[in-house]
Amino acid sequence: MIAPDLTTAIDRLGALLDEASVVLPFTGAGISTECGIPDFRSPGGLWTKTQPIPFDQFMASQDMRDEAWRRRFVMDEYFANAKPGRGHRALASLYRVGKVRAVITQNIDNLHQVSGIAQHDIVELHGNTTFATCVACDRRYELDWVKDKYQAAGGRAPHCACNGYIKTATVSFGQAMPEDAMLRAHDLTGSCDLFISIGSSLVVWPAAGFPLRAKQKGARLAIVNREPTEFDEMADLVIRHDIGEVLGPFIAH
Ligand code: NAD
Repeated sequence: MIAPDLTTAIDRLGALLDEASVVLPFTGAGISTECGIPDFRSPGGLWTKTQPIPFDQFMASQDMRDEAWRRRFVMDEYFANAKPGRGHRALASLYRVGKVRAVITQNIDNLHQVSGIAQHDIVELHGNTTFATCVACDRRYELDWVKDKYQAAGGRAPHCACNGYIKTATVSFGQAMPEDAMLRAHDLTGSCDLFISIGSSLVVWPAAGFPLRAKQKGARLAIVNREPTEFDEMADLVIRHDIGEVLGPFIAH
């Protein structure tokens, strides 16, 4: 059912939260737009400006790797300055009181960690863009190091000591999903009684399968997203309002 107005939306979400024992938030790019990080699919979002570089193209060409890093450094203007928004802070409040035990996120911006949720309770389905790894040996690299090397080489992406390619620690289109994160998300969705999808268009698979699975396993499903999603019909509550406005009242002060 679609909440008719913001007040009703907040009341109904509050009631669902009160009735639930295990709340599982599932977040997408929309929770971070108020932090200054554009999403992919809103009008003017990243998708409408530049198509992402698929994994096979990154692996196949030095020019593509150079371009991937050029874009990442341009995006640093957004990522480096972002602070958790009201949505992140509300979820961190629910985490502190034990209502939320873990968060599944499609986001790569590290803002759930910064909001105070422990790393081991954050399931990152699409990785994390605030550091890099070698795709061959998995060695970790900090972005400042990559940037120094990139600039010193006149805009060429550096290689790892093992000669593998260094890439942000994110999952690109066409790249295998992280097995541990997928298994953990699978388990969590089977054992929650309220699943809240927040700021996701729910079109990126396999991530979009989790709300479906939670519902099939008997959890209630709430969707907070200002645009309609394909899953709205099966949801117990649909809230098409701004995430900060909806979740702000759940921040514990
Ligand atoms: P998406 O861009 O496909 O969808 C975001 C949704 O959030 C849209 O439907 C939009 O209407 C809604 N939205 C945006 N701001 C909102 C607000 N303030 N209040 C309510 N709704 C709002 O994002 P997705 O479903 O997460 O999929 C995109 C993929 O892109 C993800 O896999 C993610 O890894 C990646 N991505 C991540 C970030 C990030 O880490 N912050 C940013 C852009 C893209």
